[in-house]
Amino acid sequence: MPDDAPNSWEARAAAHSLYGFTDLPTIDRRGTVVLTHGEGPYVFDVHGRRYLDANSGLWNMVAGFDHPGLAAAAKAQYDRFPGYHAFFGRMADTTVMLSEKLIEAAPFERGRVFYTNSGSEANDTLVKMLWFLGAQEGHPERRKILTRINGYHGVTVVAASMTGKPYNSLFGLPLEGFLHLTCPHYWREGAEGESEAAFTARLAAELDEVIAREGAETIAAFVAEPVMGAGGVIPPPEGYFQAIQSTLEKHGIPLVADEVICGFGRTGEAWGCQTYGFVPDAVVASKALTAGLFPMGAVILGPDLADRLQAASEAVEEFPHGFTASGHPVGSAIALKAIEVILDGAGDAPPLLDNVRRLTPRFEAGMAELARLPNIGEARGKGLMGALEAVADKATKTPFPSELSVSERIANTCTDHGLICRPLGQSIVLCPPFVMTDAQMDEMFEKLGAALEQVFAEVA
Ligand SMILES: *Cc1c(COP(=O)(O)O)cnc(C)c1O
Repeated sequence: MPDDAPNSWEARAAAHSLYGFTDLPTIDRRGTVVLTHGEGPYVFDVHGRRYLDANSGLWNMVAGFDHPGLAAAAKAQYDRFPGYHAFFGRMADTTVMLSEKLIEAAPFERGRVFYTNSGSEANDTLVKMLWFLGAQEGHPERRKILTRINGYHGVTVVAASMTGKPYNSLFGLPLEGFLHLTCPHYWREGAEGESEAAFTARLAAELDEVIAREGAETIAAFVAEPVMGAGGVIPPPEGYFQAIQSTLEKHGIPLVADEVICGFGRTGEAWGCQTYGFVPDAVVASKALTAGLFPMGAVILGPDLADRLQAASEAVEEFPHGFTASGHPVGSAIALKAIEVILDGAGDAPPLLDNVRRLTPRFEAGMAELARLPNIGEARGKGLMGALEAVADKATKTPFPSELSVSERIANTCTDHGLICRPLGQSIVLCPPFVMTDAQMDEMFEKLGAALEQVFAEVA
């Protein structure tokens, strides 16, 4: 029950804040969960209640909520040089070091980095780079961007246009020239009797048809998350990226990996594209880049796009784009530390990526166990990201009526039991912090299992 006193945190939050992506009837009924601090993978609210955050904040707090090394790196940079920009030929030394580190960690042998403050801005930046390249290279018509239905790329005007979610029609989006192809979800989109390989071939053929219809010379890029995140945690079908990339290569169209969720270890490799064995032409990163401690995004161009952007920029003397806080030195210091903590191991601590790999079988086993419930239609995922999709009828994959808000109820019941997880369509998403212990993972599945049984008993 919400605390109704007029001076309660819940009432104060409701009085003066606007909420993004929040179910407002739930807020009315339950009040905002107002948080004060965290410990490892747990967060605490103003009433002292503890929650295991199975969503790493919003996919990003992969090192937990009180990592001492990350906070120390921020503090040291604040003390030494607390802020600067990256315009007009100036750049903080820490930012220079971060670019070196990112190129070393990137799935390319060389390339260049451009900084933003978010994943959305990184996608907008990428598209402006491609439009700028088209104009400078004598192909001003090369502007169309291909993405997938349910793909999530952010909320700014271009990133929202790339995103293949129905709610964007509420804004009159997408803009012209943003085309959404079939969602690569075999369980939902595969035809009766169609094998996974045949499904992949059908998606590649669709891409070929779209390119033929639109004209290859009008298409600037195909942008895809290695595993769709906010679209419902959807791993690609077998051979998908190989099939897509070979189709794109025939037409000279770049493939960009939106690694905002997958990047920095989530799928068990540094990058999602490495998990799926392909090398994209550019990578978009954010979220775990600073382990959630600072708003920062990055576009990392591979050799070909980096060289072309450099040449096109030199021709007009600059690339006229950037944000006041692009490459912020404090963000850069935190990102340097976060990459060390995740990929290299800091001090005596092993890399968090090792723990991702160690925990993955336990995570998969916990998911498989819950998938046996009669109202879980599919358990899917990769590494430490997963989703459980609720269905009214398992055999026919029929969803529950949307007015039952089943996934919202499951998430709220979890909250009552001290577990934070996120509803997404009819699914529940799990993307635990990389610092979880075995016992914490068991706690996550126990609490989720109890909530699922309780809600299914109410609605089924
Ligand atoms: C979250 C996300 C974005 C947008 O990042 P913001 O920092 O929220 O703007 C873009 N792409 C993917 C794949 C994401 O998950």
